This record gives sequence, C-alpha cells and structure tokens, in this order.
Amino acid sequence: MTESIEVLRRRLRFGTLPEALLQPGRDVVLRAGDRSITRDELRERAGEVAGGLHDLGLSPGDRVALFAANSLDWVTAYLGAQRAGACVVLMNPDYHSAEAEHILRDSEPALVIADKARAAVVEPLGARVVLLQDLPRAAEPAMPALTPESPAAILYTSGTTGRPKGALLDHGNFLAQGRGAIEVWRWTSSDVLVHALPLFHLHGLGMGLHGTLLSGASAILVPFTPAGVVTELKSGGTMFFGVPSMYQRLCDWLDENPTDLSHVRVFVCGSAPLPPALFERCERLLGQPPVERYGITEGGIVVTNPYQGPRQPGRVGYPFPGVEVKLGELDEVLLKGGQVFTGYWRNPQATNEAFTSDGFFRTGDVGEIGGDGTLAIRGRIKELIITGGFNVYPREVELVLESHPAVQEVAVAGVPSEKWGEEVTAYVVPSGTEPLVESALIAFAHERLAAYKCPKRVITMDRLPRNAMGKVQRSVLASQRT
Ligand code: AMP
Repeated sequence: MTESIEVLRRRLRFGTLPEALLQPGRDVVLRAGDRSITRDELRERAGEVAGGLHDLGLSPGDRVALFAANSLDWVTAYLGAQRAGACVVLMNPDYHSAEAEHILRDSEPALVIADKARAAVVEPLGARVVLLQDLPRAAEPAMPALTPESPAAILYTSGTTGRPKGALLDHGNFLAQGRGAIEVWRWTSSDVLVHALPLFHLHGLGMGLHGTLLSGASAILVPFTPAGVVTELKSGGTMFFGVPSMYQRLCDWLDENPTDLSHVRVFVCGSAPLPPALFERCERLLGQPPVERYGITEGGIVVTNPYQGPRQPGRVGYPFPGVEVKLGELDEVLLKGGQVFTGYWRNPQATNEAFTSDGFFRTGDVGEIGGDGTLAIRGRIKELIITGGFNVYPREVELVLESHPAVQEVAVAGVPSEKWGEEVTAYVVPSGTEPLVESALIAFAHERLAAYKCPKRVITMDRLPRNAMGKVQRSVLASQRT
C-alpha cells in the first residue's frame, strides 16, 4: 500500500509549471470582462514577459513579488515570471504598507510587479517596482533548467493568529495539486470555470488557475458579486469554486432571484467550514450541494467530499489520490503527499516544528476520522478554549448554535476571565427570522452540550470579521469583546 502511494506521488509531481501550464492551442483559455486570450497568445506573452524580466537582470531562482488585483495581466505576469525561472512571491492586493513591508523584507524580491494602486504602496518602501501594465517584453529567453524541486512560489499564510510565514511551494507541489483537483472533480477540456477567487491564494491559484490550464479547460475571471457569478454560470459556466461566505451571499441573492442553475456540473466550497444549514440551503437554491473540500496553504488542498456519491454536511471527505491523512496528538490532522510543501522560507525552525519525525505535515487543525474514512474538522488547536480546566473546541459549539433559527452566523472564542481562565463567548449574527434572546440561546446550548462547553455570553454583531478567504479573524473578535 505504502509503495503504491509513493509511486503515485512521484507520478503526480512529474514536470515543471511552464511546461505543463503553457500548452499550445487556438481556443480561448481565459476571459475577463471584454478581454480574452487564447492558449497560443498566453504562451507567447508569457515568453515575452520572461524575455523582458531576463533583460531587467532577473536570474532563475530570484524572487519576483506580484502585488496586484486579479486580471489577465496578473496571469501573464505570473506565468512570465515562472517561465523566467523566478520564484513568485504572491501578495494579497489588500495589504497595507506595514503588511507589504513585512513580506518584502522577508522574501527579498529582486523586483515587485505591481498595478498602479499597489505601486503607490510599495514605492515608498524602496522596492524596485515594475508597473504591471508596462511590463517590458522581449524575445523569449532559453528555457531555464527547472526541476519539480525548483521553488515556484512563496505563499504567505493568512496570519489570522500570528505574523504571516512564507510557505515555499515547488513546481512538483503545484503539479500534484492541479492534477489531483482534475482527477477528483473530473475536470475536462469542455469545462468553463467561473473564477471569482483571489489569485494570490492556493484556492484561486493552485486549483482555479492551474487546474484550468492543466486540464485544457477555460475560465472566466470575475470580481465576486452574486449577480455577476450567476450571469456567467447562466452563459456557459460549468464549475464554480467559492468560500462559504460567497455561498452565503449567493444563496441570499438566489432567494430573491430564483434561477435555474441545474446545468452547472460542480460547485466546490472550502477554506473555511461550510455550516450544515448553508449546505442545505445551497442544495435547495443551487440545485445541488457544494462539494466541500479541505486544505491548507502549506499542505495543499487534499481532502474532498466525493464528486459522485453522498456529500456529507459537516464533513470534508476523503483524501485526494496519493495523499495520506492521519491523526496525531490532540487529534491533529497530519498530511503527507506530493502537494505538501518542503518548508517555510528561510525559517528552518518553523519548518522543523511543522513536521513530525515520520515526515507528516502538522496542520494545526483538530480532526475526527469516521468509520467510513471521512474526515471532519473540529477547529484549530490554537483556537482551543481552556475554561475551568476543560478543553472546548469552538467549532463544536458553533455547530450547535448555528442550528438555532435565530442565528445566521456564529463564531465562538475564549475571552480571558478571572473565574474561568477563559470564558466561552459566542459572537452571533442574528438571522432576523426570530428574535435573538441571549438566555434562550444559552439554554438551547445546554440542552445539547455539556455545561462547560456552553457560552457564558452572547454578543450580537452585524457581521463577523473575515479575511479575503472568508476566515473569521479571531484577533479582531477578541478586541470586540464588550
Ligand atoms: P489557508 O492556509 O489560508 O488555506 O487556511 C487553511 C485553514 O483553513 C485550515 O488549516 C483550516 O483551519 C481551514 N479550512 C480550510 N478548509 C476548511 C474546511 N472545509 N472546513 C474547515 N476548515 C477549513
């Protein structure tokens, strides 16, 4: 068994990104608004950008930071930098100066490719900036000597609990990721992905963009709005990838504007927990439940509900082909496979701590593996609340509170307390369908959970603070505890 997994892993890692992603073809591969690009054009432009970067003095292995909103030019710059053999540092376009400064100091890029708005953020930091819209082009340089082990990109972790760390992914990691996604969701060249995810994140890049290019399919880049996504799905989209907060907004919109989307082949959801009530709402309004999948920047997107067969609300499903998943101490989810990164950029100590002695990546998530082999995520170890000496995982409490009709969304966190050490606190966005009464919600929890797990306080909010990937920012919550 172990041997066949090793063989599969090697097969999935074979090749490098420029060879695999820049395939010839006269068909349109990407569209954004009224601009579109064919495979041949993409290949040619990426080659010219590689030539331009080469003329600017860039050598294979140098870092190039990419700091811009999603666009076709973003894709050309990314693939051009890959083609030049650079390691691309992906930057969230929402970063403010201090966040950008941390990334630039840490990754030391030879240059930053930025759109106009982001150039204004990084120029005062002394970075060497090339404007995205003015990227120089020149004759395609000789193909650099790359291997599956060559660094491809540095993706910074979300940093919802600490300073972002640079996860270094190599070409083999991305190819294993893209090929795995094609296999599990049966991606074919006739698919059209409606792509509304940020390209700087693994979800939008490693699955969305790479999967499209590798499978011979096409994609439409759209800024996320429910109406915009539905329009593109109705005019030929066959796949949609989103985070739960996007599905929430899509459902709200579809409630008001019922639309037949039964022709869509698959909706995939991940990056944060998909509440069972939202799963059911999607099933009703989209005509099918999303396929929930689980992943992490460093380890890849590696577990999914089945494409065919029952999709279970509250569970993230089975490992991708070639991926091993097991539980370690404190039921921590441990991963091994071709997608798993080799380490943090210039941070051997963090890298060392991230792996077990037998080479599994420690995700920091608490899991539970059912009798049918499916995984469920119970929360992050660091989010564990210790109250009166007992351990409480917020997700378990959230799942109960989410099932109350007065609750639309909820996040549970520990608030320091002299009496309890930490006090279980629920931050709730009311559904508006019935009044939210603090004592009634706490009593509801007591009927379903051991007393120590029940919230001591309920704080009402208009919305939960989330980052670009829909993850609740607990540090922000903790500052709103009154
Ligand atoms: P990131 O590295 O930004 O992709 O964040 C990874 C983290 O997101 C994981 O460690 C999980 O805590 C969380 N996550 C991703 N997918 C899911 C999911 N389907 N259910 C619950 N948590 C998820």
